[in-house]
Amino acid sequence: MAKIVLKSANLPGEYSKIEQKDILIDGGRFAKIGGNLTPQDIENAEVVDCSSFAVLPAFYNGHTHAAMTLLRGYADDMELNRWLNQYIWPFEAKLTGDDIEIGSRLAVLEMIKSGTVFFADMYWHREKTMKVVEEMGIRASIGVTFAEALMSPDAIEKNFEFLAAHTGESERVHLVVMPHSIYTVGEPLFRRCAEVARAEKFLLHTHLSETKKEVEDCQKQFGCSPVALLDRAGALDENLIAAHCVHFSENDLRAFAAAGATAVLNPCSNLKLSSGIPPVAALLAGGAKLALGTDGASSNNSLDMHAEMKLAALLAKAQNTAETLPAQEALYMATRNVAQAYGLSGAGEVREGALADCLLVRLDNERMTPCHDIVSNWVYAADSGCIDSVICNGRFVMRGRHVDGEEEILKDAQACAKRLAGR
Ligand SMILES: [Zn+2]
Repeated sequence: MAKIVLKSANLPGEYSKIEQKDILIDGGRFAKIGGNLTPQDIENAEVVDCSSFAVLPAFYNGHTHAAMTLLRGYADDMELNRWLNQYIWPFEAKLTGDDIEIGSRLAVLEMIKSGTVFFADMYWHREKTMKVVEEMGIRASIGVTFAEALMSPDAIEKNFEFLAAHTGESERVHLVVMPHSIYTVGEPLFRRCAEVARAEKFLLHTHLSETKKEVEDCQKQFGCSPVALLDRAGALDENLIAAHCVHFSENDLRAFAAAGATAVLNPCSNLKLSSGIPPVAALLAGGAKLALGTDGASSNNSLDMHAEMKLAALLAKAQNTAETLPAQEALYMATRNVAQAYGLSGAGEVREGALADCLLVRLDNERMTPCHDIVSNWVYAADSGCIDSVICNGRFVMRGRHVDGEEEILKDAQACAKRLAGR
């Protein structure tokens, strides 16, 4: 693995003042940060002048459906149930494995260009998405997805066999057990998913309390809230990572936080589908572990973690006070909190020993000028267009805003989406 020295990199120091340091990247990690690099450190390293860049942690996306980039803008301006039943599921029924590979490639391209180097993906034909992640050099937790309504009993058993064999896992790609939701997976299968996850040391990821309808239907059918149902199925513990968490009662919130589960909020998607406003401030006050994701590009309509981070911070302030969720905390929700939730220890931060995932952000961009506070500028003023280069696992995956093969990826995605929409 090649060595890189990020020379005179601008880092947020104490009181958010800029400190210039040299960073040695070696063996896929930040090996040294400071002014003490030796001639041996620099030997055979590629030295990159970073005097005009801030070096900031790369984003980690805690919940998405990558291949749904093919449905970006296909069905807008309607609520979740009509959107799913009349548009999304019929379109998805036509997707082949090859289409999913093309959609995943478009998603990874968009993620890299907006500074994201990890995503948790819930979708079908996972082997195609895994291949794309390996080829394009980023990281992912790939779902082994369960949805009883959309799968044969045989396909469900094949999923469990796949999990037992830990097929396709690697340094950058891990598997996660992903029952889609309580309205597509019954209690017995949910229980089995939770048991297998625990026994095989996988995490468990699902959609939870996304809409009012989900909560009302659950009350009618099972006599309890979705959170209580997960508890009943033995799935509410620190192994659980739940997307959305929009409609929590006070009891739900208490139980969820006490269990040590992580909530991955997706405010853009929730607002656009009119599902509700995630209770960011209440979850924070209740001590729940919090992280962020974009959800799919069919409901977001982008995979831009920067936009998600800023919106989460603004919602928290509107729900409580201006002091709630300060910039640094919002940044953690989009970086190291996601990494911690998905078991990537020592990731999501620029510090010695951490995985070498980072962004080179242009300090000479108008949105980063003046620079009273580098983190404030990054969270509140910048957008992903300020990112010049992206490093994942000690390797450049974008340089000077160029990603290898991007023209081809866009051409293929355009043709594929056109064919699927029958236009
Ligand atoms: Zn989702």
